[in-house]
Amino acid sequence: MFFLPAKPEIYSPRSRDNYDTITIMNLYTLDLNFQNVPQTIASYLIVGPDGPVLVETGPGSTLTNLLAELQRHGFKPEDVRHVLVTHIHLDHAGAAGWWAQHGAQVYVHHVGAPHLINPDRLLQSATRIYGDKMDTLWGDFLPSPAERVTAVYDGDVIDVAGLQFTAIESPGHARHHHVYRLGDIAFTGDAAGIHLPDMPMIDVPAPPPEFELEVWEATVDRLLAENFTTLYPTHFGAVNNPAEHLTALKGLMGETAVYIKTQLDAGLERDDLVDAYNHWNRTRARQAGMNDMAIHQYETSNPWYMSVDGISRYWRKREKNAQSGSR
Ligand SMILES: [Zn+2]
Repeated sequence: MFFLPAKPEIYSPRSRDNYDTITIMNLYTLDLNFQNVPQTIASYLIVGPDGPVLVETGPGSTLTNLLAELQRHGFKPEDVRHVLVTHIHLDHAGAAGWWAQHGAQVYVHHVGAPHLINPDRLLQSATRIYGDKMDTLWGDFLPSPAERVTAVYDGDVIDVAGLQFTAIESPGHARHHHVYRLGDIAFTGDAAGIHLPDMPMIDVPAPPPEFELEVWEATVDRLLAENFTTLYPTHFGAVNNPAEHLTALKGLMGETAVYIKTQLDAGLERDDLVDAYNHWNRTRARQAGMNDMAIHQYETSNPWYMSVDGISRYWRKREKNAQSGSR
């Protein structure tokens, strides 16, 4: 079940007020096989009337896999002229600089844009988290030439390859995050959480330092109001029941935040809290019928300790703000 061949999804959007042409395009979910674990990080290849577009590049460490996948679909690197990334986290945009250096135009949230052009600060903070695992996990993060980077704002329409992608501001997981609407489907990055193919579980990726519960809940409401027919989270593949998925995500987000808060209030130290949260998630996964391989896939997509650190930070910040009366 983990090695399904990539199949095209022929897509024809319903016509809508602002979308009166019916476009037929091919959409492929490319498996970047991150850390040799299948179906954890996706890159999406959309072949429009005028050529291919890539949404998400994955990290530098999976570039060879991405290029092989593209070749399997008949594309050389130089055929890809337009690359959209939802945000600048390494698993989503790590290879963006490589594409920019090879002449592709990279579209990214305006707050993230400077960090693609000069990734020093981004890499410094990532190194603080990952230490000597940086290289194995993420590979090279090359700087993008400034003229190859297009800074994107909420509501911008990116008109490329005969397709119109609309950027939807979607903070909460990160402050600098866009969901890209295409017709009535959406590439959701991390804003719609994590759901792996055929799995009965959703996960909340909440890495430090930008997780904000209320902000993300508002984003989920915004996505719900769009009435998308299909979501394409980067981790991983099509979600065909957006309303049900997003409602469950919102519930889980609150539940997860409350769980971490309760443990913090009980005085649990960080490492014990990580153990407790791992146990909590494993129990949730097993109750849903998942095996070890499936659990490993989820942990590879989003190490659970990350969410512990991100959500703990959120609560501490709130407490500090409450004490100083700024919130
Ligand atoms: Zn992310």
